[in-house]
Amino acid sequence: MSKNLKWAAAFGAVVLICLGVIIFGQFSGGTTTAEIYVDGKLYKVVEDLDRQQLQSFRIETEHGYNIISYQWGKIWVSESDCANQTCVKYAKASLAGETIVCAPHRVVIKIVGTDYKKVDAAT
Ligand SMILES: [Zn+2]
Repeated sequence: MSKNLKWAAAFGAVVLICLGVIIFGQFSGGTTTAEIYVDGKLYKVVEDLDRQQLQSFRIETEHGYNIISYQWGKIWVSESDCANQTCVKYAKASLAGETIVCAPHRVVIKIVGTDYKKVDAAT
């Protein structure tokens, strides 16, 4: 009986270690980060685009609004009241360096990759 308990304890420890690795892994990388700029200034950092659930948020600029959505490591503009609607027609961005631009609203969405380091907004 005590042998079984030992096995149970060992098994429990392995499960805990696995969980720890999974949780740590989610914080340390493997997620895609995007920066949103409005008028050349850093407006918002979206640190984890890799969501199962569709996420959306609204950006208000002095020129109009953009609704940004992200899911499964991709980000896109789902709605905007800008004149040319170019941003809405952009392909979903998912790779580091990809950008989506809404020129009329001066909004830029930039994928900065998985190893995100905080950069000074002024640079
Ligand atoms: Zn636009």
